[in-house]
Amino acid sequence: MRRFALVIFLGLTSVALMPAETGPLQGLGGYSDEAARVERDWESKFKAIPEPQNLRAYMERLSARPHHLGSPYDKDNAEWILAQFKGWGLDAHIESFEVLFPTPKERVVELVAPTRFTARLQEPTVAADPTSNQHDEQLPTYNAYSADGDVTAPLVYVNHGIPEDYEQLERLGISVKGAIVITRYGASWRGIKPKVAAEHGALGCLIYSDPRDDGYSQGDVFPEGAWRPREGAQRGSVMDMPLYTGDPLTPGVPATPDAKRLPLEEVKTITRIPTLPLSYGDAQPLLAALAGPVAPDDWRGALPITYHLGPGPAKVHLKLKANWDIKPIYNVIVRIPGSAYPDEWIVRGNHHDAWVNGADDPVSAMAALMEEARAFGELLKQGWKPKRTIIYCAWDAEEQGLIGSTEWAEAHANELRRHAAVYINTDANGRGYLNASGSHTLEKFINEVARDIVDPEKKMPVWQRRRLKLIADAQSKEERDEVRARPDWRIGALGSGSDYTVFIDHLGVASLNLGYGDEDGGGIYHSIYDDFYWYTHFSDTDFAYGRALAQTVGTAVMRLANAELLPYDFTDFADTIRKYADDLKKLLKTKQDEIREQNRQIEEGVFDATADPKKTFVPPAIEEVPPQLNFAPLENALEKLTASAGDYRKAWEKAHENGGGALARASLQEVNAKLIESERKLTSPEGLPGRPWYKHQIYAPGAYTGYGVKTIPGVREAIEQKKWQEADEQLVLIGKILQDEAALIESAARELEQAIK
Ligand SMILES: [Zn+2]
Repeated sequence: MRRFALVIFLGLTSVALMPAETGPLQGLGGYSDEAARVERDWESKFKAIPEPQNLRAYMERLSARPHHLGSPYDKDNAEWILAQFKGWGLDAHIESFEVLFPTPKERVVELVAPTRFTARLQEPTVAADPTSNQHDEQLPTYNAYSADGDVTAPLVYVNHGIPEDYEQLERLGISVKGAIVITRYGASWRGIKPKVAAEHGALGCLIYSDPRDDGYSQGDVFPEGAWRPREGAQRGSVMDMPLYTGDPLTPGVPATPDAKRLPLEEVKTITRIPTLPLSYGDAQPLLAALAGPVAPDDWRGALPITYHLGPGPAKVHLKLKANWDIKPIYNVIVRIPGSAYPDEWIVRGNHHDAWVNGADDPVSAMAALMEEARAFGELLKQGWKPKRTIIYCAWDAEEQGLIGSTEWAEAHANELRRHAAVYINTDANGRGYLNASGSHTLEKFINEVARDIVDPEKKMPVWQRRRLKLIADAQSKEERDEVRARPDWRIGALGSGSDYTVFIDHLGVASLNLGYGDEDGGGIYHSIYDDFYWYTHFSDTDFAYGRALAQTVGTAVMRLANAELLPYDFTDFADTIRKYADDLKKLLKTKQDEIREQNRQIEEGVFDATADPKKTFVPPAIEEVPPQLNFAPLENALEKLTASAGDYRKAWEKAHENGGGALARASLQEVNAKLIESERKLTSPEGLPGRPWYKHQIYAPGAYTGYGVKTIPGVREAIEQKKWQEADEQLVLIGKILQDEAALIESAARELEQAIK
């Protein structure tokens, strides 16, 4: 990998693309110098427009009342956002769908043995916080798309409730069959917890917020500090989104009034067992009533109790009943038609709905989206004419399962496949560093944008601040060396968890997810305390980073909309795929080594000798060592990919020579069409094994991690789940995908060379 990084570095000797520390940037990727001058001029006008006090005012308005899917204030907000867009002179409209949205009718959690305790399941009013008393409009604490149920069973503590935790329980001789599990938030997306619990035979699932993770162990609790108070609970969806996102009744098609809907009992994304979130105030008596073995060291939270595993003697009664209603949702859509290439679209979105008041999630970033739109309205009045069509989207129903964006994208799937070049998403925003994840074909582009945005606290480019943070946080000399040598910092891969999912994973639209953060923590996520009071006391209180976010995303949108040549790059992409391929080989080797070692210890009698006879211990059984897999199809494709990425880079550099006059003269529509296609090519029509809705072959949320990304997921998950034949088949498939990608890049390179002759 270091060898590869060096090649890339040497390949990038043109002045325009050197790291910022070697001097200010002259040119702009994808632009002739002349076009770049015009673009930079408009960009500086744009960057001067967003105002912190506007962001504050939008937040105060949008988060004034609870505004979840189906609530009166959700609709009110959508109409207000629409009116603002129109007031700024933009062409805007609402697109509505009708979706399944369960809300609780009955919620009961009680300890029935050995003592009695009834969980309150209510977040109390906090006197200092003026919106915390809006109980009539607040959704109760619950997990949406949990199955209904009424069960009484012994309790078992299962830590984070991920597959590894159940392996450890098995060693300790503990089964959850016929039990209710209590698990803490963290380590996976919440929907994975009831899924894995049900697979192990549990009857119910409670998910609580441990103070170790976001309560008093981290800092002072609300309202004295930012962290989760004793009765604060995390609402959230437990829909099985790794299967498909959006309305559970209409997979793959838009949820229009006359859509064909699945009967409820056929829906696969609803949990199999009743599931409910708890505050640590409600969880403590339950956990304290457990006996059995003491929980392993790293399973213990910060409650003042000894953590036991059970089962029992604690016995719990869990009863859930929901209203399974169909509710309308309201996406607000703005369209700024392109002047030169109206059929190439730059799409940008953020959701407007919240679990409750949602000042941080989503309004902190929704406000930035609105300031960008207002600024574009201003620029249009001054004569700005973006070449490509810009589409701004304020999504509804994100929190329940990315529903607004999914239904809209399914409704417009054919147009989006033909026209969408890039989708840019934001969700929440705070103080600190720019975080960027997304398609690695856009890695170089977003690095370039970040070099031109000033950090409000440190007055240096946000690019530089992020880079220095990476050096500070690096775990090894190799990591530090790489950050210092590489012209771009690496961006993360996208899993799931926000509205980009349908665009990248289902449709193959190159996507980015952006936001500032990491300086302020907090424990108000999905609670009634995520509100204006909390945000203006404990997060980006002066909205300086809200302004930076509007500047960052707006600049990215403008640059994409006006570039003569779309700023995709494939060298960083090929470098990233190389890294993923190495990770896969390492993963297989580690599995082989671990199983070999475990088998050896079984034969040596290690487990038998070290098991405490006074404690239950079930030794592991001898396991077959994973076979070698054939990585040749992937390796061969990678060689082609690296070569074609290099060829495209050469053509790109040639196009930018001598002030990029060739770019200004050339007709680049054919090249741009190929560039747009480059992300589509990474999808396969049949999708991933067992989940055909997920079409992208490089990025997907893990079937057992939820938000967490799995890269080259077809192969990786087959290895993790020990499906060796499937792993080999998937290696052939990814080889083919990447061969096709390489051929497309190669033809784009040739096309570009022709065009600039
Ligand atoms: Zn959100």
